[in-house]
Amino acid sequence: MDLRDRIVACCQITFPCLKKKPTPTSNEKRDIIVIQNVPDPFNVPQATVPMSDNTYIALYGYTARTAEDLSFNAGDTLQALDKSCGDWWLARALTGVSQNKQGYIPANYVAPVESLDAELWYFAGVKRVDAEKLLLSGENQNGAFLIRDCESQVGELSLSVLDQGRVKHYKVKRLDNGLYFVSSNRAFPTLKELVQYYSNNDDGLCVRLGLPCRKSEAPQTHGLSYNTADHWEIPRSSIQLMRKLGAGQFGEVYEGRWNNTTPVAVKTLKPGSMDSLDFLREAQIMKKLRHPKLIQLYAVCTMGEPVYIITELMSNGSLHEYLQKDRGAHLRINDQIEMSAQVASGMAYLEQQNYIHRDLAARNVLVGDNNVVKVADFGLARVFLKDNDPSSDGDENVYEAREGTKFPVKWTAPEAIHDNKFSIKSDVWSFGILVYEIMTFGQMPYPTLTNYQVVQKLRTGYRMACPPGCPKVLYDIMMECWKDAPSDRPTFETLQWKLEDYFDLDDSSYDDASRY
Ligand code: AMP
Repeated sequence: MDLRDRIVACCQITFPCLKKKPTPTSNEKRDIIVIQNVPDPFNVPQATVPMSDNTYIALYGYTARTAEDLSFNAGDTLQALDKSCGDWWLARALTGVSQNKQGYIPANYVAPVESLDAELWYFAGVKRVDAEKLLLSGENQNGAFLIRDCESQVGELSLSVLDQGRVKHYKVKRLDNGLYFVSSNRAFPTLKELVQYYSNNDDGLCVRLGLPCRKSEAPQTHGLSYNTADHWEIPRSSIQLMRKLGAGQFGEVYEGRWNNTTPVAVKTLKPGSMDSLDFLREAQIMKKLRHPKLIQLYAVCTMGEPVYIITELMSNGSLHEYLQKDRGAHLRINDQIEMSAQVASGMAYLEQQNYIHRDLAARNVLVGDNNVVKVADFGLARVFLKDNDPSSDGDENVYEAREGTKFPVKWTAPEAIHDNKFSIKSDVWSFGILVYEIMTFGQMPYPTLTNYQVVQKLRTGYRMACPPGCPKVLYDIMMECWKDAPSDRPTFETLQWKLEDYFDLDDSSYDDASRY
């Protein structure tokens, strides 16, 4: 057995399947037909396409990255031929640019025909604030709309509509017999029929429904392609380094291209900066951790030096630099809270997977378009922080060497500093510091104190004061994270909901379609 085989063998870790919130389907059993046979402007033309259980609609376009992939556009119909690979399916295009061709497709880019997920107007998992952002993005015309899951009531749906530059929200309710309605005087057997009806009549809504809201960017694929999903050691020759993005504690980071097709970030590790067995073991786990708010590890090149870590590329670099740009002039309080909520969401996933980050800080969070943030470098601290090489040119202010181990002292919980007790609760402490960084636009925590003074003062119960302009509710959250006893600190799940609910308004914030 070679090194990699041994690691694969010792890392057969399985993660529990995440439960998905049950959502109604658009082809529910029809009890009573109230309104139907309305012309359907949203239907993808399907007359010539043979339908089967394995027929899917593309939700996003995809450009082939390898000779074995299939290119397709949003709205194309595809037939899945082999789904055994999991994240990548072998499929045949029934329509579109690749019609009648066969190849691999990312499974998360398609949805079964006739399912709710296949409707262009259904935005699964999109929150109220995100719905507003999407609808107001400038790409939408008056009447643009979407239907999303209601945050305050699990299993319920909401309709969000753009009207004269403002977004109105309606609850989509259900009668006991299952019919859907937004106004009590008209009910529909399916959501599709509800949408069709209000596309032709405003009838109580602020405006007649227009086109579905434009979808944001396509999601990340799981892995770079069907054959890197399991074989994550890729040939170094498949990576082209394009431009240096920055340099961190352990090496340089480049924007690169995989296979000359796919933009990626390439982290190059300084030779000798880690134990390769430790790294490969950790990378094996990191690769299985997948969440929209975690940077995805795509692949590694560990044959030879320097080791490459290939991850998804984030257009705006580190959150720390992003916060400091224009001293935050481009950020509003909503953005700051939303970014904190996104980090909490990624960390809540790690918490659920019993995984510890160990180095949560703004420098280890990356920013994409539209203030999307994702947690990066989870798990690497375990591999790297053993490094006690004082010649390391990392930021010595941040990573202070003590007894052979380097700590980012100002971010680290007291029990981790004193007793090396790292836990998800020490990550919660660090999260409090990260929220402080966000609220101060990237200011160094405890700006007037040295690392040593911080450690001493924390013992006496000292905590940082509320940053200027920071709402009290948010400061209260930081203080909760900095409780002495780890068990008194909140969970990331609680932090996520608290931050997401910050903007959640009560029922009165919904418009009433029967009022008009
Ligand atoms: P690090 O070694 O992780 O501290 O990264 C050094 C710098 O490279 C960061 O401050 C970022 O500006 C940039 N960087 C790291 N990873 C990425 C990525 N995945 N996408 C874009 N920029 C990155």
